[in-house]
Amino acid sequence: MAGSGTAHLRGEKALLSVEDLVVEYPGGPSGAVVQAVSKVSFDVLPGETLGIVGESGCGKSTTGRAVLRLDRLTSGRIGFAGEPIEEADERHMRALRRQMQMIFQDPVASLNPRRTVKDLVVEGLAVAKVPADERAAASATVLAQVGLDGERFADMLPRQLSGGQAQRVAIARALAVGPRLLICDEPVSALDVSVQAQILNLIEDMKATYDLTVVFIAHDLGVVRSVSDNVLVMYLGKVCEYGDAVRVYDRPAHPYTRALLDSVPLTDPDKGFAGPALEGDVPSPLAPPSGCRFRTRCPLAKDRCAEEEPEVREVRPGQFAACHLA
Ligand code: SF4
Repeated sequence: MAGSGTAHLRGEKALLSVEDLVVEYPGGPSGAVVQAVSKVSFDVLPGETLGIVGESGCGKSTTGRAVLRLDRLTSGRIGFAGEPIEEADERHMRALRRQMQMIFQDPVASLNPRRTVKDLVVEGLAVAKVPADERAAASATVLAQVGLDGERFADMLPRQLSGGQAQRVAIARALAVGPRLLICDEPVSALDVSVQAQILNLIEDMKATYDLTVVFIAHDLGVVRSVSDNVLVMYLGKVCEYGDAVRVYDRPAHPYTRALLDSVPLTDPDKGFAGPALEGDVPSPLAPPSGCRFRTRCPLAKDRCAEEEPEVREVRPGQFAACHLA
């Protein structure tokens, strides 16, 4: 269940449960507050993939980082495997992060440039004081699983790897500690198109092999669609739409989702809103529009949209949207 002020329908079963997450930080010249994430809620059940999608600045990456407590959250609740972790101390979070791993957009930058591949992939095991011989065996196993020849790559440094190879190392490194949750933050957007599909397939394969639950963050709806069970669309820190991926993609309920999905105006009213392509830039999170944050770009905006913020509500079974007209 997603949205502001709404109850969780699946919270007790969820591996990851996020409720009313708010992340704000000072960012303006006169101390104005950046409203990076505003009352975002969602659940991810074990084995599911949740895609989080939106333009740059929508708060999707901040949400992923806040879940791991890499960014400070202002308020809200985060549950992992039934345990509330929003106030867990750093020592406890370090232990939990073995179960909650993250893959980043720039794989080379995410790897220590002075360590070899064989050491990088088992860095987490070294921290956990796993004996050296076990680490070496784990390194060979996990490198093979991500499709890298250990003999060829083991002694390489990150700068000697291509983007795709480095992302494979980053994935291997995450898997080596045996996570339950993998948060992938734009994992293919810096890669060549020809390599993107390989990495997406690898994530899918590893999800099955390791019985993973995945949060997949991307700006590209096509990429998210191919991997997601559910999708959460964000705009300027807010949830616009959430639900079963097939339903959201087949019949988007929010004008922003519609605009992201298709730049061609719809002619079939049964399929959702008609509207022109998405135009203009995302407003500053320092001064978001009143009412509906999407209203300055929404072709359907009414006076009410400036005065009243739309609540996230169920518009069809399993599909939620924050729009007065949905
Ligand atoms: Fe557009 Fe109004 Fe709906 Fe916001 S609430 S998406 S401005 S129609």
